[in-house]
Parts: sequence; structure tokens; C-alpha cells
Amino acid sequence: MKTVNSMCHSCGGRVREVLDYQLLRRVTSDCKPMPEGGRKGVCDRCGLVQSIITEEWNQACHEIYTNYSVYYQSGGSEQAVFSPGSAQGMTRSHRILAQTKGILGLQACGKALDVGCGNGNFLKAFSSLYPEWKLSGCEYNDIYREDILAISGIEAFYEGGIDSLTGRYDFISLIHVLEHIENPIRFLRNVTSLLDEQGILLIEVPFYMDNPFELLIADHASHFDESSMLGVLAAAGLAPVSISTRAVSKEMTVVATRQDQATDSEKPIKEKRLPLARAVSSLLDFRNRALNCRRTSDELAIFGTSIGGTWICSELENHVDYFVDEDPIRIGRTHMGKPIRSLSDFRAGTSLCIPLAPCSAQPLLTRLPKSEVEPIVL
Ligand SMILES: [Zn+2]
Repeated sequence: MKTVNSMCHSCGGRVREVLDYQLLRRVTSDCKPMPEGGRKGVCDRCGLVQSIITEEWNQACHEIYTNYSVYYQSGGSEQAVFSPGSAQGMTRSHRILAQTKGILGLQACGKALDVGCGNGNFLKAFSSLYPEWKLSGCEYNDIYREDILAISGIEAFYEGGIDSLTGRYDFISLIHVLEHIENPIRFLRNVTSLLDEQGILLIEVPFYMDNPFELLIADHASHFDESSMLGVLAAAGLAPVSISTRAVSKEMTVVATRQDQATDSEKPIKEKRLPLARAVSSLLDFRNRALNCRRTSDELAIFGTSIGGTWICSELENHVDYFVDEDPIRIGRTHMGKPIRSLSDFRAGTSLCIPLAPCSAQPLLTRLPKSEVEPIVL
């Protein structure tokens, strides 16, 4: 695979681009289709998989965030996360807090700040579990100001970046924020300066190694794995307490505290270009099989209405009959103009495209009605 070089937006090292990525259509992080032509690569020095940051990329992100809609497929309700092998969903925020409760070891009361609080889903979950805490939310626009201010325990809502914030917090959360940020080290240094000496930082990011469809998200500046996350934490003056890719499926959950001084990670970086190139080639292969299937099938359905489902529907030029989803809030609605049906309404004999992470697709296969038509999986 041919590569070209650019500069790492995190450490300034050399990024080698995986050119085939440009052939894939993309999706915005709020699940809207985007044309092909994006650029992703891997830093030779810090190993961070990343978008190549250009003026064009910044402009595209500005447009995405200006028109952002949180979970529009379910009318703003937070996406349910499913444990492997089960159709039983729980909101992502509740899952994160349930999984980290022991590690966080938070006191009965304190001051918490949620950076990138969106419409307040995480703050609401936090408030229900820690009702004595004083909460603040920060977001780059004030669309959801009133919703945030209505949450129990809320003290303040801040519009804009974190640069203007002052004070110290006992707990700061970055839930699906860090992957959007250009120069994550500089950003985390600013976050660290707001953290009390004994304060706890919780970071939740997607984990592309478990879910290659995550690489299709145009506005994600970084795609972290454990070693690139460790490097960024150390350079920002943070020490990891726990890094887990099992707490929430397909995500990385990081708990960290301040450390006395920033350190450069001396650990040798494993070659990361190969996994990225492999993931890109398996996505291209998935797309080609779906296109072939479209040509030969009378009826084609897509499982899931999030990143993968939106992407493959767009690659198929919307020539799709319907979506199938297990999230009860989404069933009966439409996505990209197509009806969303429940799994029990899925007709055996219909071709089914399953653009889900392998860890989600495999247990699903056992729940599907028996059919002669082989579903398309990654
Ligand atoms: Zn780098």
C-alpha cells in the first residue's frame, strides 16, 4: 500500500498515510453520510492513528459541529449499549459509570466537570448516582444550555473551550471528546490544570482495534489504542490508574490522576501502519461484497442505524429496503428515509448486511432466523 508523509498533530512526528482510505465514503460522528476523500495515517513516533489535519479537514469539522444533532436516530435519547450475547441495552453513560464505580472511588460529595457535555446525558447519569455532587458542564455551543441547567445538582454551564475555565475539580469527565481534539496533549494539559491534586479524570474514547467501522468517522482526529493513549497521558502530566477495553464494548475507558511532571513515553512504538492498512482493506472488501449482494438480491436489509449502517447505506447509494435494529427507541422510526424494523420483523431469505464490530456481529448471528442467504459480516 503506497503511503505519503504528513506531520503528527499530537507529537509532531512523521505520519504515514494509508492512501486506500481515500476510496471509502465516511460518516460524521453524529451519523450522517460524508463523501469519500478523507485521509488517515499513523505516526511513526507516537503510533497514533489519526486524521491528516488540513485546512479542508478543519472546515469539514466546523460544518459538522455547526449542524450537529445528538442521537437524532432516536430523537435525542442516548444510544443503548449492548453486552455481548445479550439484547438487553443500558445507556452508555450508565454503563461507563457502573463499570468504573470501584476504580473511581468517588467520595459522597465533590465538584465535577463534564467537558463536552452535549445534551447532558452523562451529567444526568452522574447526578443520579452521585446526587450530592456539584456539577458543571462545558460545551462549545449553548444549544442545550437550558437542558443542562435543569439537571439536578448543576451549578454552572460554560459555553466555549476549556481555556477560559478556572477553579479546580475533584472529577473531570471527557466522554467521547478526546478523539475529536486536534493536539490532544495540549488539550489534556489544560484539563489537568483544572484537576484537583487528588482529582480523578475519566476519559472514554472509541476503540478502533475492536471496531474498524470507527475509522470511517470523518471528524475523529485521533483513533487511540492503549500505547498511544499511554503516551498522550504521560506527555500531559497524567498517570493512568486503569485502562480498559472491556468495561464498555468497543470503547476504551481510562481513569487517570495527575502526576508530578510530564514524561516522554520511552516505550518503543509497535508498527501500527499494518493494522490500519488491514482494517481499511477489510472495510473495502466489506463494501464490495455489499455492492455485489445489492446487484444479485431482490431485497437487502442493513443491521444497525449507527456508524456502520449509515456508511454502508450511503455506499449502496441508499438502494436498501430497510434497516433492522434492536434498540426499542429506534424501531418504528426511519433512518436515511428507510424504515427501521425489529429483528422479529426481519424476513428470512432477505439479504442482510451486518456492518458491526466482529464482537457484536458474532453473537447476533446466533439470534438471526435461519436462512439460506449468508449475511455479510466484516
Ligand atoms: Zn505522533
